[in-house]
Amino acid sequence: ASRNPGQPEFLQAVSEVIESLWPYIARHPKYAEHGLLDRLVEPERVIMFRVAWVDDHGEVQVNRGYRIQHSSAIGPYKGGIRFHPSVNLSILKFLAFEQTFKNALTTLPMGGGKGGSDFDPKGRSPGEVMRFCQAFVSELFRHVGADTDVPAGDIGVGGREVGFMAGMMKKLSNRADCVFTGKGLSFGGSLIRPEATGYGTVYFAEQMLRQHGRSFDGLRVSVSGAGNVAQYSVEKAMTLGAKVVTVSDSSGTVVDESGFTPEKLADLMEVKNHLYGRVSDYAKRVGAAFHPGLRPWHVPVDVALPCATQNELDGDDAQRLVKNGVICVAEGANMPSTAEAVKVFEGHGVLYAPGKASNAGGVATSGLEMSQNAMRLSWQRDEVDARLYEIMCNIHEACLIYGRDADGKVSYVNGANIAGFVKVADAMLAQGVI
Ligand code: NDP
Repeated sequence: ASRNPGQPEFLQAVSEVIESLWPYIARHPKYAEHGLLDRLVEPERVIMFRVAWVDDHGEVQVNRGYRIQHSSAIGPYKGGIRFHPSVNLSILKFLAFEQTFKNALTTLPMGGGKGGSDFDPKGRSPGEVMRFCQAFVSELFRHVGADTDVPAGDIGVGGREVGFMAGMMKKLSNRADCVFTGKGLSFGGSLIRPEATGYGTVYFAEQMLRQHGRSFDGLRVSVSGAGNVAQYSVEKAMTLGAKVVTVSDSSGTVVDESGFTPEKLADLMEVKNHLYGRVSDYAKRVGAAFHPGLRPWHVPVDVALPCATQNELDGDDAQRLVKNGVICVAEGANMPSTAEAVKVFEGHGVLYAPGKASNAGGVATSGLEMSQNAMRLSWQRDEVDARLYEIMCNIHEACLIYGRDADGKVSYVNGANIAGFVKVADAMLAQGVI
């Protein structure tokens, strides 16, 4: 903690992983040697830079840009770019650290990274967003590359922003390398990449439920957030027969007891992705209840899918979900449950999957996008979806193998942390002290 003052999210993520690893390392002492853990908790490189740009009123705006290159042990750094006013070093370091383990879990050769800016896209015109993206990449471009560091989207960065950044990258480098993933289909993007994180989260939860002889059919599901991950989690859960009763954003929660339909989801996508509106606007459109300032966790459900942001579900929320009979929680967001909430879920036998396992489908499909770009061809929708499904089933299997204790009880937290760690650690040990 004294080395990383003022970085609570980073310390939270590291503590959770180290707690899982400790007993495993005690049984496998080679992982306690060569300063392995000390090296693993230190990013290989942290880049911070000024982003100066001109707004629609001719005023100069200054934001801070970051890229955390956490680990290249198993492949080029890989991880999203986040634009949100809360972005700081602690949040991006936690995300890059988590990303390293997540990427290892996918079995694809990708290291871990993350980046972003405290730029707030809300209320900005399309022209302002484009100029900001271009200014951001005018520094970032010298640090990234198809075999060095491959960024993608995250909160506040969707297909539009990735397009602006990939375009500027091409201009500055005079190369058509596909350095970003999450691109549009016409310039190297992969089918299923937009859907991948949400679909993957639901595929993972489906595997967890199957272990207990259950399926999504007929279950009540709550989803938080209303962005990319939330939308496709809603779609896949609905397709599997679940009744999805909530979505949310930072201003409140929509509760719809009659459940989502494909028509309502199309309305939500129109409001969020084209009009850049709020979930309250969506609630008005479909005549659902909107609860300002509330999170979705007070609504009784069988399955909860937190898909908004870190620490959005605390110990009290977890207690309420347990009291209301929740059986499964799978994280679409990164670290949405606080440490306290995780203890409540695991302590009450709730099937609980941490984001680094359940939301790995997004980066896995980015890995598939990189493969297609390298081969200069594109796979059909069904082919990418089948690969995504298989990867999620394999991650689930790895969690069972590494997460089962002597009594046969499974902790998906331990499983994901240990399975990811073993791959990265073995690669680090083999490559010497660097
Ligand atoms: P989007 O920007 O598309 O959507 C984010 C959603 O979360 C919005 O509805 C937003 O509401 C809400 N949100 C953001 N911050 C807060 C907050 N402080 N309190 C309440 N709600 C908030 O992002 P994504 O869907 O891409 O990302 C969501 C989560 O999933 C993140 O944790 C991200 O790291 C994770 N993730 C994303 C992947 C991807 O492929 N996109 C891959 C793996 C993980 P509002 O508009 O009010 O801010």
